[in-house]
Amino acid sequence: MVIFANDPNRTSWLHVDSDSDFPIQNIPFGVFLTRDDVITIGTRIGDTAIDLAALHQLGYFDDIPLTDDIFLQDTLNDFIADGRKTWRAVRNKVAEIFDNNNTVLKSQTKHKDTVLYSLDEIEMQLPVLVGDYTDFYASREHATNVGTMFRGKDNALMPNWLHLPVGYHGRSSSIIPSDIPVRRPKGQTLPPGKESPVFGPSKAVDFELEMAFITTDANDLGEAIPINEAEDYIFGLVLFNDWSARDIQRWEYMPLGPFLGKNFASSISPWIVTLDALEPFRVHSPKQEPKPLKYLQYEGPKSFDIHLEAIIKPEGANETVVSKSNFKYMYWNMVQQLTHHTVNGCPVHSGDMMGSGTISGPTPDSYGSMLELSWKGERPVQLNDGTERKFINDNDTVILRGYCKNERLRIGFGEVKSKLLAAL
Ligand code: MN
Repeated sequence: MVIFANDPNRTSWLHVDSDSDFPIQNIPFGVFLTRDDVITIGTRIGDTAIDLAALHQLGYFDDIPLTDDIFLQDTLNDFIADGRKTWRAVRNKVAEIFDNNNTVLKSQTKHKDTVLYSLDEIEMQLPVLVGDYTDFYASREHATNVGTMFRGKDNALMPNWLHLPVGYHGRSSSIIPSDIPVRRPKGQTLPPGKESPVFGPSKAVDFELEMAFITTDANDLGEAIPINEAEDYIFGLVLFNDWSARDIQRWEYMPLGPFLGKNFASSISPWIVTLDALEPFRVHSPKQEPKPLKYLQYEGPKSFDIHLEAIIKPEGANETVVSKSNFKYMYWNMVQQLTHHTVNGCPVHSGDMMGSGTISGPTPDSYGSMLELSWKGERPVQLNDGTERKFINDNDTVILRGYCKNERLRIGFGEVKSKLLAAL
């Protein structure tokens, strides 16, 4: 099916600011609560939210085979499980309905009243029920930086790192949407120079600048997804702030890896931007040397040129951009991650979430965590308000933003924003 929705020449009869992340070519998917306390699946053009369930009830999707309640859900899981053909048909239809040259809905004031919302009339929800969440460790720069800090330059990368996308299973219970505050976690840490641990609030709360992809039902137990099919099972992407407590992490991680230092909260942007919408921004991933094993070898560009920013906004002060990175820096791309994840027969379901791992670039201003930006606290980061940070302070708000841009088009993710509250 041709992706008509991506036509860069199309404009909408809905107003779209020139620097908007959400032109008519984006058509992301999300879940929101309306002013009437109804939860519905929707999309967004400019700063207008669109109730897809209402559009469907009014008959605007009649020529697409959809069940009656497909958009009357509090998660996108069933819609995602319908597969890529349905995602494409719906995006194409939305593009058609809101095309500047189409007056059908535009001229129906009553229909518009039930379908369109301004952003201040809605409350964004978690877009999917996340069954399982996996976090990878796929940026070579990030793995090298962290390895250098803790093991020295010569042993920075573990022997397996260049041969497989390293990952771990996280907790889905603490994945939360943007704008939900995060509580500073308490836990066990081993203070420097001490021989026994203490209990208390973490002194090293950090963000991780990541993206996450959301899958559809992909394979049965025991089956693997071949790498040339992996992309068919990826619905779309969100911004992902994988909150981390470095002092808890450092004491607990041996020998099984991340645990309570990583699972107290991960914040996501609420609009899932489809892989289809990102199509014009495909780029090649970094060259892989040594060549990975056959099952991880792929053809064509499998990464995307997504500009990423991490921002700290102290209470009552302006924002400071502390990092500028890019999704394309990731050494292991999404198709390699999904293929590796299922190569042993592990099933992947609709609504599963796969974090990229911290995305650090080659230069110090592109590092994706405070751990790296402040080099474990040795080089504090200066903020615009004159203060400095080694890690995140109570009442700081951390914001991640991301967008793709070429001469004709900007497709963005909006932001994920969360405030760190003091420990209870
Ligand atoms: Mn992470």
